[in-house]
Amino acid sequence: MPKKRRYKFNPETLAYEIHKIPLRAKFSKGFIIFLLSILTSSVYYLVYTRYFGLETPKMMTLLRESEELTNKLDLMNKRFKEANNSLLSLQMRDNYIYRPIFGMEEIPLEVRDAGFGGVDRYSYLKNFDNSGILTRTAENMDILYKKAFVQSKSFDEVVLQAKNADKLALSVPAIPPVNIAGHRIHFSSSFGYRPDPFNGHYRMHSGIDLSGPVGEPVYATGNGKVVEIGYDFFGYGNFILVDHGFGYKTRYAHLKTSLVVMGRQVRRGEQIALMGNTGRSKGPHLHYEVIYQGRPVNPLNYYNRDIKPDEFLAMVTPKG
Ligand SMILES: [Zn+2]
Repeated sequence: MPKKRRYKFNPETLAYEIHKIPLRAKFSKGFIIFLLSILTSSVYYLVYTRYFGLETPKMMTLLRESEELTNKLDLMNKRFKEANNSLLSLQMRDNYIYRPIFGMEEIPLEVRDAGFGGVDRYSYLKNFDNSGILTRTAENMDILYKKAFVQSKSFDEVVLQAKNADKLALSVPAIPPVNIAGHRIHFSSSFGYRPDPFNGHYRMHSGIDLSGPVGEPVYATGNGKVVEIGYDFFGYGNFILVDHGFGYKTRYAHLKTSLVVMGRQVRRGEQIALMGNTGRSKGPHLHYEVIYQGRPVNPLNYYNRDIKPDEFLAMVTPKG
């Protein structure tokens, strides 16, 4: 493109000469135009965005993307809420159905919530404002992850117990320790608080008493291992403690003689002792305890009181 030239009439030479604009003037003029254009566009931008509430295309794209993300996070949080509800129902079934079947203690909700429970279990799933939604989504994920971890651990335990279910069924102290179907035995004292037979003081009786003749066979009430054979002059007299596993132990006290040795594996119905009158006893009887998770429980809840003589005899193997 040919350069555009300006001519100026020179009165001295009477001729048109090429007009030269000084370089400095040229630049300052360009700079002023530049400034003006920036100013104009700024004013234009301000008027466009502030007064008309319009967005520039780039801003609009960003806003749209941000809105899409927010919607996705919103959806994710709703899914978290659903997952949380499913997990909650699993936790309930685990605590009140699965674990009790196998004699396992429930897992407290505080433990299950992994420290996220608190006053409002769903507070973290509310108030979807844009500012904190990302943080909250991350938190929700964390909460669900930890809860699910506790739950899966619990299911592992339940599965393990289920695999041992047949063993458990044979180990639970589920038969009477003496032949209650026969005419020789009578029930003489129940579990719980009662006046002491020696001094009348009201105190806890940690088992049941079954009276009968000295020498009457005493049977192990579930599979297990003899973990203690002792003599307690002021209390149990001759006694045997059997550990059945799964949290169960049984004690047989005031025995005349023990027929087993320490560490012996015994089977349900196997005769392990002879009834006696040793220790703190006012007449021949068996004091029988069922201990679950370290606490004495009522043995009557563990066996059928209406058992028939032939049914009982079918379950036991007397010695000799
Ligand atoms: Zn007793």
